[in-house]
Amino acid sequence: MDSRVVVVGGGVVGLSVAWRLAASGSVTLVDPAPARGASWVAGGMLAPVTESWPGESVLELGCASLDRWPAFAAALGVPLSTAGTVVVATDAADAAELSALASHLSSLGRPVDSLDGSAVREREPAVGPGVRSGLFVPGDLAVDNRLLLTALADAAREAGVTFDSRRAREVGPGVVRFDDGELAADTVVVAAGAWSASLHPLLDGLVRPVKGEILRLRVRSGALPLTHTVRALVESRPVYLVPRAGGEVVLGATQYEAGFDTDVTVAGVRDLLADAARVVPGAGEYALTETAAGLRAGSRDNLPLVGELEPGVLVATGHHRNGLLLAPLTAEAVCALVSGSPSPMPAASPARFVGGSWKSR
Ligand SMILES: Cc1cc2nc3c(=O)[nH]c(=O)nc-3n(C[C@H](O)[C@H](O)[C@H](O)COP(=O)(O)OP(=O)(O)OC[C@H]3O[C@@H](n4cnc5c(N)ncnc54)[C@H](O)[C@@H]3O)c2cc1C
Repeated sequence: MDSRVVVVGGGVVGLSVAWRLAASGSVTLVDPAPARGASWVAGGMLAPVTESWPGESVLELGCASLDRWPAFAAALGVPLSTAGTVVVATDAADAAELSALASHLSSLGRPVDSLDGSAVREREPAVGPGVRSGLFVPGDLAVDNRLLLTALADAAREAGVTFDSRRAREVGPGVVRFDDGELAADTVVVAAGAWSASLHPLLDGLVRPVKGEILRLRVRSGALPLTHTVRALVESRPVYLVPRAGGEVVLGATQYEAGFDTDVTVAGVRDLLADAARVVPGAGEYALTETAAGLRAGSRDNLPLVGELEPGVLVATGHHRNGLLLAPLTAEAVCALVSGSPSPMPAASPARFVGGSWKSR
């Protein structure tokens, strides 16, 4: 029998889940502002390898999702950038951190090409003379997040997903409650990103907002364009520039624990521009077209929460810096759980926070 599912939250995670679920049942997506949230602000890197910070173990999930991206993007008709990532260091301390990252990746069976300064510039001519060393990571992909969101919303509508523009107040077994009524379903999926914690008591304290500021630039005529995603550590601060087709460059991102604040601060913009100029000096000639801040959803261990909260309620959130990357795998996991099959991402089960009292699948 076809399932009836209500998905709460229409960022990249909720839209991907709703679109994929619509193939096997009736789906309603609840969101007063779909295709926005952190997903609208994000950089668009699909980069499990260069996001693999020692101490965080998102690499395995990220690589599994990256493998699914080409088919996912093709089904949506969204192009992917396959140029890869150049990661660079500007001083001796940053170079030491970079070489620790290279060893960490090699120990995980993910060797990368180490480059000296001139080899970095040969690969990415926009990188400046201050860069002393770097790595080239060929497997990373990138996607235009805004193109992706539009394509996902269109695909979900075409697949028969009903959009409900109310704000959910709370979620219970098979029910979503609003100020003016409720919606019943076989399964409710909480996918409201950083706002998920207030929707279900078991998520209270498990999900927090992690603020990130980002700038959008446009390569002006005569300025040197970027051909690869460039990531750097500048005095231990991470910075990245992601080129888009058509001359846009996304420059990000700060990371603060600042509650639900989404103001873009002068200091945030100053640091991003200064750090970018150390790595890609020509960026000073680009036009600054947009500043924005978004709220990533962080869990207690910064790994996603994808699984059953209680019978009739699934959660798909906590994707932190990797929600775009992890969207295809998350959608597949939720489809599996709705149909009673095991999740392909058991490491993301919320059961890890509440011992045996929650189901482990
Ligand atoms: C600056 C920045 C850069 C980033 N760069 C990258 C990157 O390069 N690669 C990558 O993979 N990830 C990146 N991320 C992380 C990524 O953006 C997130 O992990 C991802 O967008 C999370 O998607 P989501 O659908 O869970 O949440 P969101 O996109 O935040 O969507 C949540 C949705 O829930 C809705 N909602 C909230 N409350 C309710 C309610 N009560 N009822 C109904 N709906 C509700 C909101 O309106 C919103 O549409 C970045 C994030 C930031 C902030």
